[in-house]
Amino acid sequence: MCASRGVRRANMELEYNMFVDAHCHLLGSHLEEQKLRPLLDRARRAGVSGFVSVATDLENSRKTLAQAQTMPEVCASLGVHPHEASTWTPDTGPALESLLRDPTARFVGETGLDWHYDFSPRKDQETVFREQIRLARRVRKPLMIHTREAPEATLRILQEEGASEVRGIIHCFSEDLSFARRALDLGFYLSFSGILTFKNAQAIREAATFAPADRILVETDAPYLAPVPHRGKTNEPAFVVFVAECLAQLRGIHPETLGDLTTQNLEELCGWAPSY
Ligand SMILES: [Zn+2]
Ligand SMILES: [Zn+2]
Repeated sequence: MCASRGVRRANMELEYNMFVDAHCHLLGSHLEEQKLRPLLDRARRAGVSGFVSVATDLENSRKTLAQAQTMPEVCASLGVHPHEASTWTPDTGPALESLLRDPTARFVGETGLDWHYDFSPRKDQETVFREQIRLARRVRKPLMIHTREAPEATLRILQEEGASEVRGIIHCFSEDLSFARRALDLGFYLSFSGILTFKNAQAIREAATFAPADRILVETDAPYLAPVPHRGKTNEPAFVVFVAECLAQLRGIHPETLGDLTTQNLEELCGWAPSY
């Protein structure tokens, strides 16, 4: 388990230089426009200076890109989430592709398989996943992968579609060491979320300790999955600091070192670093 330092830093005053939240949702009904600036300011005060803002369907991709274009500390990940796979039409691919040509768009996704909720039929999830890997290869941008309760199928499809060519992030890593090894072999990065701080996450902590330093990232997946000590509350990018502290503790390094490392890793993968 990771000891929490949250009480001491209850006000989230600036203690660190720079962390990047490698996966958060800055759009949607949970977040009215006027709340965004204060939310990003709170993150900044906590030492979080960059944000990968992730879209979940085509309409959301348009808005996510437009928003990111106005903020130098935000880059965009555009795609169709497996939950929304059944919204995919023959027009979706070309529309998404033209959005992805924009330099502010740095990732394709989130895309993948979610066999826990099965909100879209599995057949549709697979088709749309394959389409987006092909799209990523065409636009030469890395993938943002969501995978839940479908580890074998996810790895098989990544392999069959040649995803190693563009690489990407296994976001909100919640698999085990054996999955981690295979994803790393495919060239993927592992992004750890607040789940890392949960009591029953031993297998995830094992993978987080094992992964090479140049392949790790931290994220919130805000507004979901708040880390300890905020578990159960609405998550926000400022809380990526708790994830980073936990990961740093597991790996025996200083949180600031982890911040520098993960910021460099993100830049190495997608060519983007926040200007601030
Ligand atoms: Zn996800
Ligand atoms: Zn997400």
